[in-house]
Amino acid sequence: MSDCIFCRIARHEIPAAVVYEDEFVIAFEDINPQLPVHTLIIPKEHYEHIGDNVPEETLGRIFATVKKIAELKGLENRGYRIVANTGEDARQTVHHLHVHVLGGALMPIRMGPAD
Ligand code: AMP
Ligand code: ZN
Repeated sequence: MSDCIFCRIARHEIPAAVVYEDEFVIAFEDINPQLPVHTLIIPKEHYEHIGDNVPEETLGRIFATVKKIAELKGLENRGYRIVANTGEDARQTVHHLHVHVLGGALMPIRMGPAD
């Protein structure tokens, strides 16, 4: 997936505000933040979404990184929301598995179907 935008960020071919990086994952600030904290975590390998035969180790790495980001951003006590938009109904726009870590403000109680 050489032209995938998140693959290109993982290879440092295009700029991103990187918050955390290791051998398996990279976390960077969302370019269009929806809340004071809005960080994306991606595996360096390309998977379309969570249903794309993602190895369990990779899923574990991503969730371990959620915890790290929450700590780095000072959210571990006040709380935060993690979102993984998956496929059409969820309006996934970038087709490289990513988890949004959102926080820094009180959020709406729940979501519902679109109008
Ligand atoms: P979604 O696929 O709906 O979960 O959303 C993809 C997210 O990626 C959106 O919140 C975008 O603002 C974000 N995004 C798209 N391109 C970039 C980029 N080059 N750098 C950082 N974030 C991006
Ligand atoms: Zn990709």
